[in-house]
Amino acid sequence: DVRVRFCPSPTGNPHVGLVRAALYNWAFARHFGGTFVFRIEDTDATRDTEESYEALLATLRWLGLDWDEGPEAGGEYGPYRQSERFDIYADVANRLLDAGYAYRCYCTPEELEERRAAARAAGKPSGYDGTCRDLSADQIAAYEAEGRESVLRMRTPDDTVTFTDLIRGEISVDPDNLFDFVLVRANGHPLYTLVNPVDDALMRITHVLRGEDLLSSTPRQLIVHEAVRELGIASGPMPRFAHLPLVTGEGGKKLSKREPESSLQLYLDRGFLREGLLNYLALLGWSIGDDREVFSMEEMAEAFDVTQVNPSAARFDIKKAEAINGAWMRQLNVDELAERMVPHLQEAGLLDHPPEPESMEILRAAAPLVQERMTVLDECVGMLGFLFVSEDAFQIDETDAAKVLNGESKQVLEAARSALGTLETWTLDAIEEALRTALVDELGLKPRLAFGPVRVAVTGRRVSPPLFESLVLLGRERTLSRIDSALV
Ligand code: GLU
Repeated sequence: DVRVRFCPSPTGNPHVGLVRAALYNWAFARHFGGTFVFRIEDTDATRDTEESYEALLATLRWLGLDWDEGPEAGGEYGPYRQSERFDIYADVANRLLDAGYAYRCYCTPEELEERRAAARAAGKPSGYDGTCRDLSADQIAAYEAEGRESVLRMRTPDDTVTFTDLIRGEISVDPDNLFDFVLVRANGHPLYTLVNPVDDALMRITHVLRGEDLLSSTPRQLIVHEAVRELGIASGPMPRFAHLPLVTGEGGKKLSKREPESSLQLYLDRGFLREGLLNYLALLGWSIGDDREVFSMEEMAEAFDVTQVNPSAARFDIKKAEAINGAWMRQLNVDELAERMVPHLQEAGLLDHPPEPESMEILRAAAPLVQERMTVLDECVGMLGFLFVSEDAFQIDETDAAKVLNGESKQVLEAARSALGTLETWTLDAIEEALRTALVDELGLKPRLAFGPVRVAVTGRRVSPPLFESLVLLGRERTLSRIDSALV
């Protein structure tokens, strides 16, 4: 039974690399009909925040990366927030200590630093030197009597640690590079080194798919995995590991959590569709195998094979992300597109909460006019804002006005005003015929010169949805009053 997990720490905003990891785990689980576990690694009270926790849940829900076990979903291996599992870790730590897999280390930070500096000076490895590995009972008693504090350290084995990464193949780590590491701080606080493998073992995780930046912690985690199995604390096979390629930004530099363009919120604000965003994130290290670049999560789940993930770094290419998103925008049906534009227009103050029914009607009618031209939803504010802005707030873009509205355009606007003012019916055909007759036939203008000023006067911009359709949606009254305003 395949069981995978996504286990972020709730610090900061969800970022691109994190969401890609969630997606790959989700797809892996769904491919095998397995279980997608969502665990919150919130053992660092100084960095973890409730906002970040909420944002993680909201992001996964919004993206449709539904989890089978975890916060709000429950499950038989819970609780799924590590902050609620401290008793479990204390118990495991004690058992590791009692059985000799771990030991108490009484070295003070000053002593450690001193010895590290000496090792560095001598050109030797500067990891923990094992001073407290084999203390006698008397020494321990003496330290305790002194009131020395102690951390809990894992006793690392003397043999090479080898494992097969599903993406990178066999990886071996020489024991000389594995130092006895700290599991529990002097104040009793368990560390990532302990809680991550313990939970993976207790939650019966079969595959660990996570970022390459965590590759170096895997050998130590395997040591803990083995120990808890030998002690009978957990059972089941050791998990298999797959370390996903780094995501880099422009120029090949790691797209770190702190980089603004790595924040998922940026893409949500710009109005990426969940389908487009997930589709693009899927491509950061994997391809569906044929020439298809646009595919759904369900198609991904069906085809996903983690062994086919490319080990080399994946560059986040915003242009490509936009192109993929644009393809998804064109696939939406227009009512759906209209619905998805609503929050962006509301955010810009152009629609009420909830929108007026008449506004929704206009929006649904306008959606097909812009569907082909948009790559992200937020563009609707610029493209369709003129339909929803109040007349007081309506403004003509100054640069566009300077280019198009001048002495000559006055005559054009006047002719348009009188042709439209006397129209009997406000329909697409009537508007088009009236304007063509008045401006192209009678004034003898080329269409671009004829319609440009009308477009700017009425939509406020030189680039807009098709003009005649725009006028239909705007209505007679607003159209005429905007032409009038442009004439004064
Ligand atoms: N909480 C760790 C992180 O967010 C988990 C990493 C993992 O093992 O997947 O980096």
